[in-house]
Amino acid sequence: ATVQSELIAAIRSIPDYPKPGVMFRDITTLLGNPRAFRRAIDELVHPYAGTKIDKIAGIEARGFILGGAIAHQLSAGFVPIRKKGKLPHDTVRIAYSLEYGVDEMEMHKDAIVPGEKVILVDDLIATGGTAEGAAKLLKQMGADIVAACFIIDLPELGGRKKLEALGVDVRTLIEFE
Ligand code: IMP
Repeated sequence: ATVQSELIAAIRSIPDYPKPGVMFRDITTLLGNPRAFRRAIDELVHPYAGTKIDKIAGIEARGFILGGAIAHQLSAGFVPIRKKGKLPHDTVRIAYSLEYGVDEMEMHKDAIVPGEKVILVDDLIATGGTAEGAAKLLKQMGADIVAACFIIDLPELGGRKKLEALGVDVRTLIEFE
């Protein structure tokens, strides 16, 4: 089986979650499958093997799980990008657009040293609003964003283009309509 077909088979699709008409792509089944989890991480990191990456920035919450594994594999540090109010020390904050409305995310002020090479990670990119906010925050902190990585792309929602417009290289493993 190809890596793609194996990953697709390991993801659970839940109709009408969190609301009617939405097909939710649930990666908890992939994370719970030892072989699929390893293959997803191996596939995400392989372009960066031998490249010096300073930090992996993971978006709450599934980006923490993937980001931790990727950071370990690349011998990089891990930094969390969290919903507002969760981080204990001084933060930088940015508003970002959701499908309906806006929210805010933040990072610790000292999480990135300007010039550090950073890979941004989340499980899925849809409209790209979340990842765009995270990328803008990282740029404000002076990060050199090497790439933004996701297991799943929903290409019809245009998220990849939003990140590419910021000059961010996007890497995804599989697509769903
Ligand atoms: P965006 O901001 O529209 O690109 O939405 C992406 C964010 O919402 C990411 O943090 C995803 O984890 C989450 N998300 C949206 N749809 C799904 C889904 O079907 N499965 C898992 N996460 C999702």
